[in-house]
Amino acid sequence: MAEAQPSKKRGGHAYGRRHQQMSNTAEEGELCIYHGHSLGRFSSHSMRYDSHQACVRCVATAREGMLSFDIERLLKKYRVKALKFWSQVDIGQPDECWDWLGTINPRTKQPQFSWRRSGISTSTQHHPQRVAMWLTWGDLGFTGVKTTCGNKYCCNPFHLIPQHVGVFVDQDSYLDSFELACQLHTLKLQVAEFAIEEALKEQEKESVSAEIDQRAALLMSPDTGFGDRFTAVMTDLLSGQHISQAEPDDPSLFKNPTDNESGDENPTNDF
Ligand SMILES: [Zn+2]
Ligand SMILES: [Zn+2]
Repeated sequence: MAEAQPSKKRGGHAYGRRHQQMSNTAEEGELCIYHGHSLGRFSSHSMRYDSHQACVRCVATAREGMLSFDIERLLKKYRVKALKFWSQVDIGQPDECWDWLGTINPRTKQPQFSWRRSGISTSTQHHPQRVAMWLTWGDLGFTGVKTTCGNKYCCNPFHLIPQHVGVFVDQDSYLDSFELACQLHTLKLQVAEFAIEEALKEQEKESVSAEIDQRAALLMSPDTGFGDRFTAVMTDLLSGQHISQAEPDDPSLFKNPTDNESGDENPTNDF
């Protein structure tokens, strides 16, 4: 009987295969982040090239040199993710570098963006250039990406070329494209709106939590007189804010832990 061999297909770290040529065989894989790329109308799978887990349909459009900034093309659940990503990029003119403003890993000095992509990568942190590629060139799995500008913090998709896919790149036509200019303009507006909404949410959270803290400090303090205590409780009761009137699952009763979206104690990196 032959000795068991580690599976070649799954062997090694996924990103280690990014330098290889893309395979020409596909398998049923994770659902693509783009709308309409599932196997069938009700399928939750997409066809992906088994070497890089790149969506077959996304590869086809990338090979035609088509990229897009239109977040409406993404499945609904990924649109907020996209806005969250782009709000951390200094989106400039199409021919400029768009620097990453988000997290830089303090140890490796590598820029990173957290996104759990089960079935694509075990990493929860991804290089923003790869994420920018996913959100514009297509869901190309762990296809490598190189810049034409050499700036490792640049997330301008016009400066990013997916590797080993055989993409057709026509920089001049991108800069002249009215459609892309419109998409980019819309994206900038959506990102600005998203940033305002996030800031308002943050403000709301802070004011609710400050109110609770203030009240707690007043009631807990041994120096608070009976009169003040009574007034505070009565005011709360009359305005329906007293703790005894709270719904047990009211989210404002709980302090949110600091935003660690991946919920991962040991985030891993893809680079
Ligand atoms: Zn796709
Ligand atoms: Zn650049």
